[in-house]
Amino acid sequence: MSDIMVQIPFHKLMERVMYEKENYNTVYGVSNLYTHDGKKDLNLFDHGLENPFGPAAGPHTQLAQNLVASYVGGSRFFELKTVQILDGHDLHVDKPCIRADDECYNVEWSTELYVPQALEEYIKGWYAIKLIAKEYGFGDPDKFIFNMSVGYNLEGIKSKKIDDFIEGLKDASNTETWKECEKWALDHVNDFKNIDEAYIKSISPKVCNSITLSTMHGCPSDEIEGIITHLLTNKKINTYLKCNPTLLGYDFVRKTMDDMGYDYMSFETHGFESDLQFEDAVALIRKMQELGKANGLTFGVKLSNTFHVKIKNSELPGQDMYMSGKALYPLTINVAAKLAKAFDGKLPMSFSGGADANNIKDIFNTGIWPITVATILLKPTGYQVIKKLATLLDECEFPADQTVNVSLLEELAKKAVEDSNYKKTEAARKKPLLTFGENVNVRVECKVTCGSCVNVCPNRANTTLMVDGVKRMLHIDDYCNECGNCYIFCPDKCTPYKDRLTLFAGKKELEDSTNQGFAVMGDRVIYRFDGTVKECALTDAPEVIRSFITALKEQQPYLL
Ligand code: SF4
Ligand code: SF4
Repeated sequence: MSDIMVQIPFHKLMERVMYEKENYNTVYGVSNLYTHDGKKDLNLFDHGLENPFGPAAGPHTQLAQNLVASYVGGSRFFELKTVQILDGHDLHVDKPCIRADDECYNVEWSTELYVPQALEEYIKGWYAIKLIAKEYGFGDPDKFIFNMSVGYNLEGIKSKKIDDFIEGLKDASNTETWKECEKWALDHVNDFKNIDEAYIKSISPKVCNSITLSTMHGCPSDEIEGIITHLLTNKKINTYLKCNPTLLGYDFVRKTMDDMGYDYMSFETHGFESDLQFEDAVALIRKMQELGKANGLTFGVKLSNTFHVKIKNSELPGQDMYMSGKALYPLTINVAAKLAKAFDGKLPMSFSGGADANNIKDIFNTGIWPITVATILLKPTGYQVIKKLATLLDECEFPADQTVNVSLLEELAKKAVEDSNYKKTEAARKKPLLTFGENVNVRVECKVTCGSCVNVCPNRANTTLMVDGVKRMLHIDDYCNECGNCYIFCPDKCTPYKDRLTLFAGKKELEDSTNQGFAVMGDRVIYRFDGTVKECALTDAPEVIRSFITALKEQQPYLL
C-alpha cells in the first residue's frame, strides 16, 4: 500500500483500451459510452468544442487514464490538474485527502506527481484521446479542449520547471513522450480499423492554448496582475483567473450557509478580509480584459475556487479543508451573478461549483460555459454519470460566444439559495459523521461485492472480476494515491484500499505494504496472505491466489 501513483506507459494504456473496448465495450471500466452526434458544436479559444462539459482540475485530471475515462463518458473540456513549483515528494498532501459523502471536502491541491511527469500524463491523455475518438467514432478528434492550470505565484510560474511545462503543452512535438506516443501509434497502425499513417502524422501537438490561473487564498492583487500579465504578454496564452467565493463577503456567505443547513461549517472573517476584494477584482479584471484584447487573446474568470473552511470534527487530517459540491453551488452561482452584473454580461466565465443534473442546463443557458465538475464524479455513479450531463447539455441551444444573460443569471442565483437540492437535509444532519480509521474490517472478501469502490475511485484503482463464479473485488496498488474516497462509500465498513486483496506490480511494492495480496513474477508469485509473506511457483500458491490469477489472465490480462 502506497500513496504514490505509478504512471502507466502509453503502450499499456492503449493495450488496455483496445482489449476492453473489443471484449466488453467498456473503456477503463466506463460502460456508459457517449458518442457526439456531430450536429452542433461550440468554439472556444479558436478551437472547436463538441460540448462545454468535463472534469475540473482535480482527482479526475491527474492521470492519463482518468482523462481517457472521462472522454469516453462524454467530457470534451478538461481542466488539467494544477501544477506548481512544489511537486512530487516535496509537496506534502495529508492522506486521506477527499471525502464526498454529502457536500465534499478535500485537503489536496496541486498534482502529486513531479511536474515533468504531469506533463507526460497530459500528453499521453491527449494522444490517446486523439486515437480513441477516431478509431471508435466517439466524436471529432479535433473538438475537445485541454486547459492547463498553474499556480500559485509569479516566481514559481516563471521558473524553468513551470515554464517548460507551459511550453511543453503549447507544443509537445519535441517532447520524448510525444515521440513515444507517435512511435507506438505508427508501429501499431495495422491494429486499427479507422486510423492510418496520414491520420497519425496529422495529430496536432498543440495540446493547450489556454490556462486557468490558481492563486493562494490571500494572494495580493498586484501579484495576481503580474502573473496574468506574464501569461498574456509573454506566454501568449488565453487566461482565466480562478476567483474565490469570498468575493461575496462574509455576511452573505455566513447567512447563506446557515439558512441552507450548513451552520456547522466553520470559517472566519479573516479569510474574507485578506482575499481579493470585489471592487479590486472588478478593476483588475477590466484591466486584464484590455490586456487580453491587445494581445488578441481571451481573458475571463473561472467561478469558483473551493471554499476554505476549518476542520472541526476530524473530517480529514489537518486544520483546514476546502469545500465543494452541493454546498458550493449557491455561493458560486452568486459570485457569477455579482460579477456578470458588474460587467454587464461581457465577461467570459467558466463554471465549477456543484454543477449537477438539476442545474447544469440552467447554468449553461445563462451563457456560462465551459462547466466542469469533480464532486459528482466522486459519488457512486462515478464516471458513468458524465454521459447524462453531456446529453443534457446537448439538448440546449449552443451560443456563438460567452455573453452572459445577467437577468437570467440573477434569477438563478436567487433561486439557488432556496433550492432544496442544495440544502443539507435533516436526515443528513442527523447522520453521525464517519471518521477515517473507524472501520477496520480486514477480510479479503466483501459480504456483497457492490462495486461502489470501483465507481467512486477517480484513478480506476479498484476492479471487480468473476473468481470461481463469484464476483470479487481486487484493489490495484499502483494506481492508488490513498485519497480515501472509497472508504467513505463502502457499505461493508472496510477500507477497500487497505483491507481488501491487492494486486501489486512487484515484490518491492508488496514488501512496502501491509495489505494482503500478491504480485505475479513470470511463473512465480509473491504473496501476503494471513499475515505472512511467501514466494513460490504459481502452481504452489494458495488456492484463492491461484483463482484470482487465473481470473485476471482470462478477464483483465492488461493488469498483469
Ligand atoms: S482506491 Fe480508494 S483510496 Fe485509492 S485512489 Fe481509489 S478511491 Fe482513492
Ligand atoms: S470493498 Fe466495499 S465498496 Fe468495494 S465492493 Fe466490497 S463492499 Fe463494495
